[in-house]
Amino acid sequence: MSDALVVVEGLRKLYPRGVEALRGVSLEAHPGELVAIRGRSGSGKTTLLNLVGGLDSPTEGTVVVAGREVTSLDEAGLLDLRRDVIGFVFQSFGLIPVLSASENVGVPMRLARRDVAEREERVRTLLALVGLENHVNQRPYELSGGQRQRVALARALANRPQLLIADEPTGQLDSQTAGKIMELIRELVRSEGVTALVATHDPSLIGLADRVLELRDGAILEESARMG
Ligand code: ADP
Ligand code: MG
Repeated sequence: MSDALVVVEGLRKLYPRGVEALRGVSLEAHPGELVAIRGRSGSGKTTLLNLVGGLDSPTEGTVVVAGREVTSLDEAGLLDLRRDVIGFVFQSFGLIPVLSASENVGVPMRLARRDVAEREERVRTLLALVGLENHVNQRPYELSGGQRQRVALARALANRPQLLIADEPTGQLDSQTAGKIMELIRELVRSEGVTALVATHDPSLIGLADRVLELRDGAILEESARMG
C-alpha cells in the first residue's frame, strides 16, 4: 500500500467534439507535499484538478483521495468529500459578495454544522494566518485581489481539508501580489500539514513547489524534483 494521499491512474477525459483533454494521466501526491502542475493554457490543468476534486467525471481512469475512490462516489459521497476532505481555490476567488471576509471563511463550517464558538475561533485563526486580521468585516468588493485570494485560501482551509486544490490561484493578480500568494500557499501547506495541487502557468512561481509536473496536450511530460 502506498501512503499517497492522492492516487490518479490512467485518467482520460474526452469532451464532446473529440477534444481529448487528458490522455492517460497518472500521478501521486503525498501528505504534506506541494505539487505544482504547470502547462500552457489548454494543456488540461483545470480538467485534471476538476477530476481529482470530484467536480467532473473522467472518461476512463481512477482517482483516489484519502482512501476514497472519487470516481465511484455518488452525489452524497462527493458532497462529503468536497466539504470534509478537499479545499478549493480558484482563479476568480469565488467569494460570496454579500458576505464579509469572516462570514465567507465561515461558510464551509456552517455547512459542516460546526458549533458557533468553534467556528468563530477557527475563522479568527485563519484570517490572522492569511494576514487579514484587520479586514474581517470587509466584503469582497472592499478588498484587493490579493486580499480576496487570502480570504479564499482561509475559506478553503476552514474544515481542515487534507487536500488543497488551487487552479491558477494567482491568475488574476499582478506578479508581485502573485508571488506573495504563492509564498502564503507554501506557508499554509507547512503550517496546516495539507497536501496541495496547484495549477499555474507562471514559471516564476513553481520554484516553491516540492515537485513540478508538466502537462502538455493532456499528458504528463516530465517530473522535476526541486533541489534542497
Ligand atoms: P488548462 O486549464 O490547462 O487551460 P483545460 O483543462 O481547461 O486546460 O482544457 C484542456 C482542453 O480541453 C482544451 O483543449 C480545452 O479547450 C478543452 N476543454 C476544456 N473544457 C471543455 C469543455 N467543457 N468542453 C469541451 N472542451 C473543453
Ligand atoms: Mg485552466
